[in-house]
Amino acid sequence: MTPDLMEAGSQRLQAYAEKKASNAGSTESGGRSAGYGRIARLGEPDFTHGVALYLDAITVSFDGFRALNALSLTVNVGELRCIIGPNGAGKTTMMDCITGKTRPDTGTAHFGSTIDLLRLSEADIAQVGIGRKFQKPTVYEELSVFENLELALAADRRVRASLFSRLSGEQLDRIAQVLTTIHLLDQAQRTAGLLSHGQKQWLEIGMLLMQEPKLLLLDEPVAGMTDEETERTAELFLSLEGKHSLVVVEHDMKFVDQLTEGRKKVTVLHEGSVLAEGLLAEVQNNEKVVEVYLGR
Ligand code: ADP
Ligand code: MG
Repeated sequence: MTPDLMEAGSQRLQAYAEKKASNAGSTESGGRSAGYGRIARLGEPDFTHGVALYLDAITVSFDGFRALNALSLTVNVGELRCIIGPNGAGKTTMMDCITGKTRPDTGTAHFGSTIDLLRLSEADIAQVGIGRKFQKPTVYEELSVFENLELALAADRRVRASLFSRLSGEQLDRIAQVLTTIHLLDQAQRTAGLLSHGQKQWLEIGMLLMQEPKLLLLDEPVAGMTDEETERTAELFLSLEGKHSLVVVEHDMKFVDQLTEGRKKVTVLHEGSVLAEGLLAEVQNNEKVVEVYLGR
């Protein structure tokens, strides 16, 4: 979840409480004008060149230690790219740079061909269409699955104006569509806190999907899942491929194998740079990769 979404989410939660208490109320939050102004200023990303994400020579130092060292990476529109690599390779730091949480010392980062990510705030980066899933699920445990998705919808500034009104038919359709995608349609009224770990992860992915992100960043999404949940997560990501670009960081090679379907490229990070790129079978046989990662 992005800080923006979290912030909007907590506002929504408060709105819920107030609505429940008064069972009336129709206060305009003022989000409408702010929202439209912001969208106009940021503009739409330009994907006509087929590139969703373009990182070039990104370097990040923490007290002189280079977490990222001239990292370059290109992800195409609709592509599902898996990133593997040992702990400390810089995978999470890379996501921090894309989402504006960490500012690189040098290098460039573009979303589409026109949006310079290094000039945008974290909130604006989420707004232009980059969604991030952290390892730990952060759903609202006390709300139902449906309400969680409703909250995520309200985090979109364009619809915040309707915060206190009923959902439109279109919005209901959208929630139903996402519920189907994340395999939780039959759990819609269930309290989120009662879901399994895997289901909570799917719900959080669903909350990201409500924002219709162009690019999804998923950091170790199947950590702690059962084998069956892991398999279903792979199916979910494969169903998103094409409609979204996905960058998936994961250690589970079986999962990566399922995602890459024997034909997609994986990227191996090591010491802040790309060590190898190619089919999973190729990088698994790459001597350098075996030495620093797989062979351990
Ligand atoms: P990965 O996700 O591939 O395991 P990380 O990106 O989390 O790796 O970390 C890369 C390196 O940068 C590690 O050595 C880590 O200790 C270091 N690092 C990450 N974030 C910070 C930070 N905020 N301050 C200092 N060092 C950090
Ligand atoms: Mg990490």
